Amino acid sequence: MTDVYAVFGNPIAHSKSPLIHAAFAGQTGQDMVYFARLAPLEGFRDAVRAFIAEGGRGANVTVPFKEQAFALATRRSGRAEMAGAVNTLKFEPNGIFGDNTDGAGLVRDLVGNLGVELAGKRILLMGAGGAARGVILPLLEQAPSRLFIANRSADKAIALARSFSAGQDILAAGGYEQLSASFDVVINATAASLAGDLPPLPDDVFSGDALAYDMMYGRDTPFLAFARDHGAETADGLGMLVEQAAESFYLWRGIRPNTEPVIRMLRAA
Ligand code: NDP
Repeated sequence: MTDVYAVFGNPIAHSKSPLIHAAFAGQTGQDMVYFARLAPLEGFRDAVRAFIAEGGRGANVTVPFKEQAFALATRRSGRAEMAGAVNTLKFEPNGIFGDNTDGAGLVRDLVGNLGVELAGKRILLMGAGGAARGVILPLLEQAPSRLFIANRSADKAIALARSFSAGQDILAAGGYEQLSASFDVVINATAASLAGDLPPLPDDVFSGDALAYDMMYGRDTPFLAFARDHGAETADGLGMLVEQAAESFYLWRGIRPNTEPVIRMLRAA
């Protein structure tokens, strides 16, 4: 029996996940198929239940359902608990396991693919939404010397930092006007790029050999252009997308796919 997986979102037609998982399955010889499924905005839970009844083995979950997926899971990983959101569901005989692979995907892309050592580095994380929340714990686990969360609504960044701050004196948060030092790694986890906007960064935000990372992928962004103009190296979020998918694949199938040819294939496309 071929195992069936799906990604649920709304909208979902743009999703590259079916392509990525088909490539992983081909590469590792797994007998599985993976589809994109549009869930109605008010019908996520029913859509997942119907999929389980049809024999679905697991699912990815994207905007706007990650918090609902968190609530649907009967058992959750520690990183999902800290993120408050779930992007991967595994259907088990006794319930639904929920995980969040976004942060691990970002760290794998930064450290493994881009060769950026995070230990001892000063990291600026822009944004306080779902994407930012999901990556804080995995970033802290890399032992940076400082992690500052900046957000347009400063109170949201401060509340977010507080929820992670037990014993973490390296973690701080506030508005963009509070940025006074430079950073080695600057990560854009805001939705500003979607609207063609640039968060209000100071000109001296990048250290001498800084990396600017935009979680958005598929097009150049005002943030990446700003970073290039200020001498920083740049990377988009395509590697993160493929790495978070690989982490989900590993959870479901117990095999780690080779992500490098899949990232190359998507870039070429
Ligand atoms: P949310 O809507 O949850 O969060 C939006 C955040 O962006 C908030 O902090 C908001 O600030 C901030 N923001 C929005 N517009 C602006 C602006 N014009 N200037 C400054 N800040 C702004 O989005 P997500 O967290 O879900 O996603 C953020 C980005 O990450 C998206 O581009 C998404 O595509 C990408 N992403 C990429 C992934 C990958 O695998 N590569 C995985 C997950 C997400 P405020 O609180 O003040 O409103």
